[in-house]
Amino acid sequence: MKIFNSLTKKKETFIPRVHKKIDLYVCGMTVYDDIHIGHARTFINFDAIIKFLRFAGWEVNYIRNITDIDDKIIEAAREAKISALDLSRKYINEMHKDFDSLGMMRPNKEPKVSDHINEIIEMIKTLENKGYAYSKEDSDVYFDVIKFKEYGKLSNRTLNQIESAERIDIDLNKNHEADFVLWKKDTLGITWPSPWGQGRPGWHIECSAMSMKYLGEEFDIHGGGLDLKFPHHENEIAQSRCATNKNFASYWMHTGPLRIFEKKMSKSLKNFLTVKDVLKNFHPEVLRLFFLLTHYRSPISYSEEGLRKAKIILDKLYNLFENEKVIDRFSKDKTFIDNFFSSMEDDFNTPKAIQLIQNYAQSINQKGEINIEKLSNLKMILNSLGLLEDHPNNYFKYGSIDFLVDEIENFINERAEARKNKNFKLADKIRDDLLEKGILLEDLDGKTIWKKIS
Ligand SMILES: [Zn+2]
Repeated sequence: MKIFNSLTKKKETFIPRVHKKIDLYVCGMTVYDDIHIGHARTFINFDAIIKFLRFAGWEVNYIRNITDIDDKIIEAAREAKISALDLSRKYINEMHKDFDSLGMMRPNKEPKVSDHINEIIEMIKTLENKGYAYSKEDSDVYFDVIKFKEYGKLSNRTLNQIESAERIDIDLNKNHEADFVLWKKDTLGITWPSPWGQGRPGWHIECSAMSMKYLGEEFDIHGGGLDLKFPHHENEIAQSRCATNKNFASYWMHTGPLRIFEKKMSKSLKNFLTVKDVLKNFHPEVLRLFFLLTHYRSPISYSEEGLRKAKIILDKLYNLFENEKVIDRFSKDKTFIDNFFSSMEDDFNTPKAIQLIQNYAQSINQKGEINIEKLSNLKMILNSLGLLEDHPNNYFKYGSIDFLVDEIENFINERAEARKNKNFKLADKIRDDLLEKGILLEDLDGKTIWKKIS
């Protein structure tokens, strides 16, 4: 299996530390608002990758943290006039709801910063004892980047470049512009006592402390969105290697950015769309497929048109399963399965994998005859990416409609009655009226079913 390693900027053969096991850490959410689709992109990409890896026989230990201490959380809590931990608890709840409705697996562990203050303090103490951390009079505690020779390797920049780029917020207590806060001294918001006084951890130290607690000082893969590469991941590498003299993560994986209306989606630009917004009209698997149609490292431009294209593909796949029962057996279609594995094991090339799936799906319905063995293969492969997990009946009814389900059933009965009485004019009118409202009726084997169309 090959993975593009952001650290070496090369596609490398993946060598696990322990045979068939992967220890993987992904930087999670800072919980102060609803999840937007930029976040969804990152976490759905990792979800599909981990589902595939487990399907392929790897034992994956997946850790994703929750940042529940952050200046943005404290600010939002102040505005909402509740405590910071109450606010983060509320949004952790919302995050779980959104992630569950997106069909994502829960990580093996989901550590929160507020539960790991001791580990963080211990790590800062180690850095201080080894001469990598400093503070001046009453200043915050900083990491001394000059002391770490490889600083800038991940994000490919030199300290001089950083110095000239970062001249916005000059902090006179720092030795170097790129030095970052390990412990922030403060008595307001949420704080803890520490050897350096009352305060809270800086952002970056949490991921070093928590990944090492759950995965050890060295582990296989560290992932996150591309926007975290600098400074967050660069700083994680610096403080972790300096604290332990070990390598920290062997492979770094970054998901590409999501753009909307050709701009980076962000809260400050007010052009962000929440997961809840999108799921009002589109089935979660449509969003998942939309993401998987682009390679995880490439940028994605979000558009409803893109979602509709993904929906057409998914509709066709679900259609195949409408009247067919699959069997629980892998059949002999070695070429398709081998090709699928090769594309996924080549840095998780999902666009290629989906193309193979589409071609294979076309070969399943030969002159109206469905090949059940092939169909079963198809389902297994789709499930390995988190697709085709829903029942076709539910899938085709997904989304907001103007009617209650009972009302639609009444229309269907009325239409059946009209047809029985040979009042085809009325029967067609009922069908056409429903179609206008986005409800498609289909007559199958003497029964009428309905689907929502967009
Ligand atoms: Zn992190």
